[in-house]
Amino acid sequence: MSQKRDYYEVLGVNRKASDSDLKKAFRSKAREFHPDKNPDDPEAEARFKEVQEAYAILSNPDERRKYDMFGHDRPGGSPWGAGGFQGVNISIDDIFGGGFDSIFSSLFGGGSRQRSSRGADLLVRQTISFEDAFTGIDDELEIDVLNRCSSCDGSGSQTPDGVRVCPTCDGRGRLTRVERIGPFQQQVTQDCRACRGGGRIVQNPCKSCSGEGRAEQSKKVKFSVPAGIDSGTRLRLSGHGESPRNQNGKPGNLYIEIEVEEHDWFERDGSDLLMALPVSYVDLVLGAKIEIPHIDGSPLKVNIKAGSKPGETITILNRGLPFPRGGRGRGAVMVLLKLAMPEKLSRSAKKQLQELRDDLGSGVSVTGDIIDEARDRRRS
Ligand SMILES: [Zn+2]
Ligand SMILES: [Zn+2]
Repeated sequence: MSQKRDYYEVLGVNRKASDSDLKKAFRSKAREFHPDKNPDDPEAEARFKEVQEAYAILSNPDERRKYDMFGHDRPGGSPWGAGGFQGVNISIDDIFGGGFDSIFSSLFGGGSRQRSSRGADLLVRQTISFEDAFTGIDDELEIDVLNRCSSCDGSGSQTPDGVRVCPTCDGRGRLTRVERIGPFQQQVTQDCRACRGGGRIVQNPCKSCSGEGRAEQSKKVKFSVPAGIDSGTRLRLSGHGESPRNQNGKPGNLYIEIEVEEHDWFERDGSDLLMALPVSYVDLVLGAKIEIPHIDGSPLKVNIKAGSKPGETITILNRGLPFPRGGRGRGAVMVLLKLAMPEKLSRSAKKQLQELRDDLGSGVSVTGDIIDEARDRRRS
């Protein structure tokens, strides 16, 4: 069991203390034990550090929750690493001005360190068949991702006591300095070079991850592709991106961009399906019922009316793709009629066509409409 004092007791608050209660308690205790007010007093120095540690944990919602659940003996060890809490430099002015909040929140990658405390987002592309986009599928893919190293559990150190808080940045991972440009001053904040933004120094680095705390691992990710998905849609898998560099940060997200393969005869327009259907002259003139196999399992029945013309479209409602994002119903299938020219004619077929020509008369009278149509076709 740990010999450490209870954090709530250290600050003199009860377990239901609000954020502002904590802040008030910290302010008064930190002022009381501040080294500037207690020079050369090791007892006060120890109390000052204790108060800081208690506030650092309790003012961070994540850390407080863990502490409430497990006390000082939480699984995974102390958030400070085996070296324990090193204390941070807070001036009396910081305590008065409230500047301590950003200092403490930066310890755990909250607040001002948000940017680098979360692991990187990843984007992968996944190709699925047209049929799978139509019906939706549960899919799986394997990715190589920077994960928390399993050999050192993310500490980056071979031994539990090999990690200490970076002295250059006091564990903040970032340094702010003031630059003067002529009469102007500007604050520049950048990642600490001593610890490369991690806030920790590793003395004997873990062999598997060279002290990074993260290592490339391949992992399988399961995901669901909703029916009716279109190419370019990105699925988001929260927390499946890279692990953060900072041990207490959150992993990034994984985005899967779906690419839908083309279909042999269907063309897609949103949730509608377009297709061209080659039909013989005879079928156009006399009408026909044609069945086409369809992705949804039951054949499409295309009803060509007698006297149809090439270029006309037959719309079959509610047989297209399901509307995405939970919309009800489906798009339409639009069938464009095209005239199919016979490649070879039997002798008897030729003879019959000859008779047909004699019957209908040769050629067509050329009208302005036909010329316009020809011009339109050439343009498109
Ligand atoms: Zn490691
Ligand atoms: Zn540092």
